[in-house]
Amino acid sequence: MIKPVYSVVVPAYNEEEVIRETYKRLTSVMVGMDEPYEIIFVNDGSRDKTAEIIAGFCESDPSVRLINFTRNFGHMPAITAGMDNVRGEAIFVIDADLQDPPELFPEMAAKWKEGYHVAYGKRIKRKGESWFKKITAKFFYRFIRRLTTVDLPADTGEFRLIDRRVCEAVSKLPEKHRYIRGLVSWVGFKQVAVEYVREERFAGETKYPLRKMVSFALDAITAFSYKPLKLATSLGFFLSLASFIYLLIVLYQRFFTSSAISGWASTMGVILFSQGILLMILGLMGEYIGRIYEEIKGRPTYIILEIVGQHEEDIRTTD
Ligand code: UDP
Ligand code: MG
Repeated sequence: MIKPVYSVVVPAYNEEEVIRETYKRLTSVMVGMDEPYEIIFVNDGSRDKTAEIIAGFCESDPSVRLINFTRNFGHMPAITAGMDNVRGEAIFVIDADLQDPPELFPEMAAKWKEGYHVAYGKRIKRKGESWFKKITAKFFYRFIRRLTTVDLPADTGEFRLIDRRVCEAVSKLPEKHRYIRGLVSWVGFKQVAVEYVREERFAGETKYPLRKMVSFALDAITAFSYKPLKLATSLGFFLSLASFIYLLIVLYQRFFTSSAISGWASTMGVILFSQGILLMILGLMGEYIGRIYEEIKGRPTYIILEIVGQHEEDIRTTD
C-alpha cells in the first residue's frame, strides 16, 4: 500500500469546457514529478457535465478521486473539502480553469524540499481579465493587508503548495466562513512566494460574478479584522466635535452679529449626512452580527454526496 506524496486539490464548478484539459496538464506534470500522487477533484454542485467527465477519469485512472457535493457550496468550501480528504505529504491547490499553471508545481515542490511549509503563487501579472477585476483585486489585497495584523501576502490566490502539517492545522480551525489563503497565513509556519503570470481562463466564464466577489471580500475582511467596527467610534468622535464647534459658531452669530442663521438646506444636509453614516455603520455591524449568527448555528461548510474513486491500495505509483 503506497501513500501518495503529493495531493492535488481542484475545485470545479461548471467547468465541463476545461476539465479534460486540466486533467491532461495536471497528469503530465504529476507524472513528470516522479512520485506517487493523487488528484482530488471537488465538484461543487455543477449543473453541467463536469461530474460525469471526472467520474470517467476515475474509471481509467486510479490516482483520481472525485468528491461530489450535494449542491453548490462555493469555492472556499470546495477547497476545504479537498483539504479535509487528502492523503499526501504535500498538497497543491489549484483552480480548474488553468489560469494558474500546474507547470509551477516542481518549483513549489523544490521549495518544500528545501524546508518551506508553504509555497504560494504570487501573481506578478494577470492576463485576460477585465480591468474592473484587476483594479478591484489590486485594491482589495492592499486594503485587507492594511486592516489586519496577520501578514496576508498581496496578489496571492489559493494557488499554492502546503505541507501536510499546515493542511491539518487549517482543517482543524472551526470557522465556517473560510477565507483559506488568510487561514494559511494565520497558522504561520515557513512560507515563501513563487512568482508567476496569471493566464487567461483556458475556456468558459468566470464563476465569480460581482455579487460573489463582494461577499467574498466581506468574508475576508470580517474574518480577519474588526477595524471597520472601530470606524464608528472615530466617526462618532469626529462628528460630535464638529457639531460642537458648529454650535459655538451658531451661538456666536446669534448673540454677537446681526446676520440671520440660514436654514433649511444646510440643516437637511447635515441630517441626511449623519443619517447616512449611522445607517452605514449599522449595516457594517450587521455584517459582523450576521456572521456570528452563521457561525453559531454551526452548520457544516459543505455536505458530500459521494466520493468516487479508488482506495489506497490502488494508487498508481511511478515505480
Ligand atoms: N468554483 C467553485 N465553486 C464556485 C465558484 C467557483 O468551485 O461556486 C471554482 C471554479 O470552478 C474554479 C475556481 O473555483 O476552479 C475559481 O473560480 P473562477 O476561475 O471562476 O474565479 P476567477 O479566477 O475568475 O476569480
Ligand atoms: Mg479563474
